[in-house]
Amino acid sequence: MPYSNSIRETYPFLTKYFENGINSSDKNIAHCILFYGSDLEAQYNLALEIARMLNCKGTHTPECDCLNCRWIRENNHPAVLTVSKVDNKPADDTSKTVISITQARKIKNDLLVTSEYHRVYIFCDKDADGNIQGLNGINFQEDAANALLKTFEEPPSATTFFFLTKDKTDMITTVVSRAQSFFVPSMKAEDNSFEIVREAMEGYPSLERDGVLDLNDKLYALTGENEPLTVLTQVQNYIGALIKSNGLNTKLLHDFNAAETAKKQLQLNMNAQNVIENLAFELVLNG
Ligand SMILES: [Zn+2]
Repeated sequence: MPYSNSIRETYPFLTKYFENGINSSDKNIAHCILFYGSDLEAQYNLALEIARMLNCKGTHTPECDCLNCRWIRENNHPAVLTVSKVDNKPADDTSKTVISITQARKIKNDLLVTSEYHRVYIFCDKDADGNIQGLNGINFQEDAANALLKTFEEPPSATTFFFLTKDKTDMITTVVSRAQSFFVPSMKAEDNSFEIVREAMEGYPSLERDGVLDLNDKLYALTGENEPLTVLTQVQNYIGALIKSNGLNTKLLHDFNAAETAKKQLQLNMNAQNVIENLAFELVLNG
């Protein structure tokens, strides 16, 4: 997994947010950080960049070449560990498809010993080719998570856990509730288009109550010529693009999640008309 400095340019808002927290006098960032979105590699690189900022003992600049920064760029730092079904398994651990209880216990034991570093654990999954994949209820199950819940809640000082997932709803809720969540929008061009919905969505964040039906009608009309799921995906892409240009704000994050919920409802065979109506209400009246 090549580490890329360009993550700072790709996600200026997120890097700045964490940089400000880390540079504040009390290193004020959450112990448990959950990233979600479709680009898992970007999430991983972002976690590494944050690990680098946490461990830098040099100039505290992006170009710093101190030993800690170098180790992390090579993804070879002794205290910055990837935890997956294939990474950092104890020798006697025979599990192959999950982050196991044995792994969880090893982390707990390792944390009993003090460290000169800021310890970072990046929980994720990997495919057969070693590409970063997201956590879900199959590769990160309740027993392993439960073994670590107390640790997630009150970790030793200078310890940060990252959880990488496509979708928050894929993750065990007890972990989600203990983590601070950040949406990491995919910057890959191919799945970001929103041409179909651009006109219907234009200016929607400033719509008032009386704009709900109009938005509903415009979006529903689009399902005449397009798959409803395509329309909803593009609605979500449109909101994702707003997030990229405006930065994180609660309204846009709410709306992004509302679009995700709508997609799920559609996949559960809910009537498209109802799904779009609910979504129009969520986008205009809530969030
Ligand atoms: Zn450094």
